[in-house]
Amino acid sequence: MVDIIVIGGGHNGLVAAATLARAGRSVVLLEQRDAVGGVCDLLFDGATFSATVGKALGVTADPSPAPLALASNGRRVDLGGVIADPGYAGWRAWLDTVAPALSSQLDAPAPDIRSTAPVWPLARAGLAVRKLGKKDMMELLRSAPSCVDDWLTEHMSDLLLKAALMAPALHGTWMGPRSPTSSAALVLREACRQLDVRPRALAVQLRAACEAAGVKIQTGARVARIRAEDGRVTGVELADGTAIDAPAVLSAVGPKTTLLDLLDPRLVSGKTAHQAEVIRVRGTLAQLRLDVAGIDWPGERLRVVDDPLHLERAFDDVKFRRLPTVPPPLEVSVEGSAVRINCWSAPAELDGGWTEAARAALTGAIFDSLERVVPGVRDAATVTGLLTPADLQEQYGLAGGHPMHGELALDQLGPMRPSMQLARYSTPIPGLWLGCSGVHPGGGISGRPGFLAARAIIGS
Ligand SMILES: Cc1cc2nc3c(=O)[nH]c(=O)nc-3n(C[C@H](O)[C@H](O)[C@H](O)COP(=O)(O)OP(=O)(O)OC[C@H]3O[C@@H](n4cnc5c(N)ncnc54)[C@H](O)[C@@H]3O)c2cc1C
Repeated sequence: MVDIIVIGGGHNGLVAAATLARAGRSVVLLEQRDAVGGVCDLLFDGATFSATVGKALGVTADPSPAPLALASNGRRVDLGGVIADPGYAGWRAWLDTVAPALSSQLDAPAPDIRSTAPVWPLARAGLAVRKLGKKDMMELLRSAPSCVDDWLTEHMSDLLLKAALMAPALHGTWMGPRSPTSSAALVLREACRQLDVRPRALAVQLRAACEAAGVKIQTGARVARIRAEDGRVTGVELADGTAIDAPAVLSAVGPKTTLLDLLDPRLVSGKTAHQAEVIRVRGTLAQLRLDVAGIDWPGERLRVVDDPLHLERAFDDVKFRRLPTVPPPLEVSVEGSAVRINCWSAPAELDGGWTEAARAALTGAIFDSLERVVPGVRDAATVTGLLTPADLQEQYGLAGGHPMHGELALDQLGPMRPSMQLARYSTPIPGLWLGCSGVHPGGGISGRPGFLAARAIIGS
């Protein structure tokens, strides 16, 4: 019998397994796909990873290309170069000031805000923000609930620059630039980015860390259910019927899936089931893959967007569950002839569903958008794949096709991610733990949720 089973070999499952094994636990990691890494597969390099977790596990990082923002009117802004907008430097300087305080909160377990909880962890979190000083604290409290379009307009005037800064922060939210609290998403993203590292081949590095620590990794091993006796976890059963025993299971496959699909409903109280049911997981991501020859690309990483209004109109399409009626904003990665394009205008709950006709229409809309900044690309490209939210759900086990296992929203972050009761990695079912992007501190490839979950188990 092993000490603990980790379900899911995404980067959080790998981080958790390596951390537990390094603390002397015997660990089996079960991944349903043929390779580990989870949705890291789909990311471009340059996504950020917690420096704290990276240091603990020996993950190395190197600089990656900064994106070039391209508008359909021909304007360009190199986000890695000197930014000409006079308001930008002051805005960036303010983020530099608040980033350490915010990041320290993300590196720690979320404070318990239930009425029965000790008050000190919450007070400590409040104190970290208070320590920023009156001016910066007030700016943080004022900006976070606001619309990101309004907030950036206070600081800068370049429409393309504003759109290029806010676009990635809106990923995984259900918000446009004019939605209240969209500023909070940008503050958090930018604060983390400044303190994180940018690893290449993250899954390869994490797999090596697991193996060095003695984790037994099984791929092609889909967990069909988490077993329990007398209300306590006793192991798992795989889809092929194999049973594996362990007194503890850490699930890194999403709280909704774990509590509603992998557990016997009789083990889950009505209250816990309700908390899982109401987690919002409306995915909006599609990825188009191309093989392209004979195109002179303007850069290796492109952000194709016109201005904040363009992003708002694209969000209208998502909100009304329809195919793009405006050329969708895009993110493009060019690696030789292999081109990957992320489009966040693909609602999981598309009216009529993701039929072949809908897939063809989305592909056409992505080409229309790309042609405006890279003419000739349609004729030079062969489509090698398209993943819609429906495919992400089926192939990666993502509830709602949502790559962060839960929308990023103020009521689904920190001590409320995924719910007040489940935010500190343990669950009401003894022996069952949660450790994926669906728990604090949430999405991104930070590795923090897996790391903090493992530390909670070690300290239990
Ligand atoms: C293109 C793209 C862009 C992104 N951009 C951003 C961004 O800008 N900001 C941000 O915050 N986040 C972003 N993300 C999200 C971020 O990458 C994810 O939140 C994170 O990688 C999820 O990691 P994870 O380990 O928690 O879960 P996952 O990577 O989902 O791993 C879960 C693993 O569990 C496996 N699994 C599922 N069910 C079972 C089962 N029953 N048995 C065994 N194994 C199972 C799956 O196959 C998968 O490998 C983006 C994601 C994508 C795809």
